[in-house]
Amino acid sequence: MNDHLKKYLFENRSVRIQAVRLEDTWRDALTHHAYTPAVRRLLGELVAAATLLAANIKFDGSLLLQIQGDGPISLVVVECKMEPARAPIPQAPEGTAGGSGRPGTAVDLSLRATVKVREGQVVPEDGTLQSLLNAHGEGRFMVLLDPRRKTPGQQTYQGIVPLEGDTVAQVLEHYMKASEQLDTRLWLAADDRHAAGLLVQRLPDHGGQVGEAPDEAWNRATQLASTLGADELLAVDTDTLIHRLYWEETLLTFDPQNVRWHCPCGRERVAEMLRMLGRDEVDSILAEQGQVEVLCDFCGKPYRFDSVDCAGLFAARAPMADAPHPPTVH
Ligand SMILES: [Zn+2]
Repeated sequence: MNDHLKKYLFENRSVRIQAVRLEDTWRDALTHHAYTPAVRRLLGELVAAATLLAANIKFDGSLLLQIQGDGPISLVVVECKMEPARAPIPQAPEGTAGGSGRPGTAVDLSLRATVKVREGQVVPEDGTLQSLLNAHGEGRFMVLLDPRRKTPGQQTYQGIVPLEGDTVAQVLEHYMKASEQLDTRLWLAADDRHAAGLLVQRLPDHGGQVGEAPDEAWNRATQLASTLGADELLAVDTDTLIHRLYWEETLLTFDPQNVRWHCPCGRERVAEMLRMLGRDEVDSILAEQGQVEVLCDFCGKPYRFDSVDCAGLFAARAPMADAPHPPTVH
């Protein structure tokens, strides 16, 4: 069962709405980590935000939210990779006007993330974006767009996000307004089971609707969403949530996008890293700890190599010239 990101448009195309509620993805994200509630909440809000922002742009590559912190947390990176859809996506229900209508254009969103807590620091339970990452005003928040296939000379786009605001949502709303000139409102929340978010965006040049002032639909869309608390955002599935908020509106719906957690780490990659480290180093870790344990930087998955595994690492690649005798077959 996949998580999905869902997109909607007001019928007059003046307001875009996106919603995501991650369950399996978020469970996978937390599997190998024991985050404190404050870190989990912050990371979950950034994961939901990265998913919403990635789905909001037309781009072939990865969107990264990266904060270098000066408080108890020294680094948070969330990457949302946009890639061609692998599995067929359920069709939009009948009677809706949405859907890409073009086979092969569906995009999956895959996420990974890392958090580094500064050594020796205790993360307070009531830690916030500001107190955890910008305690001395030296935190740096960047949005990066990394194209999948770089053309020669093409750079990764880097946008600086001023750390102005108490929450991830406020900081990103300011950024969207300043960088995209788009009015965007975000609602984000995370607990130990779900990470969820809602994005409401005013679209430019929609032409308006006869008899409706330009701001009317936007004001209505944001006022309705402002009634939403974090508990409701986390507890209620996306379809129900959107219905509760916007049942009086005619919404165009689009094909949902699959969202999943994916880390490309694997035992063979770790083995290669240990070979690069060299036999002496690996032997000395073995002597000291009885085994070699490497944790993936992103997902935290542990890879363990005992003395037999380690011998295998080097034996398999030993050049023939080093072998004392030619191999014999019995
Ligand atoms: Zn990993």
